[in-house]
Amino acid sequence: MTRNEAAALATIARMGWETFTIRMLQQVARLSYHQVRRILQGYTAKGTVYCGLLEKCPAISVVDATVIDESAGTTVRRHESHFQFDTERYREWTAELAVWLEDEGEGEDPPPPLDSGCNTGVNVANGVRPLPGVLDPRTFGRVKIELGRCDVCGTGKAVYRSREAGVNICEACYARLVREGNAKEGVR
Ligand SMILES: [Zn+2]
Repeated sequence: MTRNEAAALATIARMGWETFTIRMLQQVARLSYHQVRRILQGYTAKGTVYCGLLEKCPAISVVDATVIDESAGTTVRRHESHFQFDTERYREWTAELAVWLEDEGEGEDPPPPLDSGCNTGVNVANGVRPLPGVLDPRTFGRVKIELGRCDVCGTGKAVYRSREAGVNICEACYARLVREGNAKEGVR
């Protein structure tokens, strides 16, 4: 798995999407439409087929949806790929992968899980709410219960919560955190 593939996968998992499109992933992962399509669907270069995440990761599947767009006055039907992400399957898969990798390298430290990076955990022991810039997207999870307003922008509807930081944030602010996190990790 390439660095970008691992990052894309981690981004999908962090966003907690059940369904997503190339465009959604593109915006959060800061990659071009073309790159995201390659990452997911693979590509062929000089007669060699390079598999994408669809083939590599069993947690991702695709359905072709027909989108009807009537915004231009006439009815336009477009085909759009909707990707489905199975969080449970992803967890199982990464767990299996870690076990498998550990068996390979004898006597060495086990490899870090896919979702690791440097530990930039937020210190909230003193009860001070961290600034948005130091929030770690990894500590957030998508929740279905009513959380009220976003603690960062104060306007969006909060849908992600970090128990660790005691902060609830909206989709837009969460996407920004993930993007900033990707930038820090040097993912392009
Ligand atoms: Zn917000």
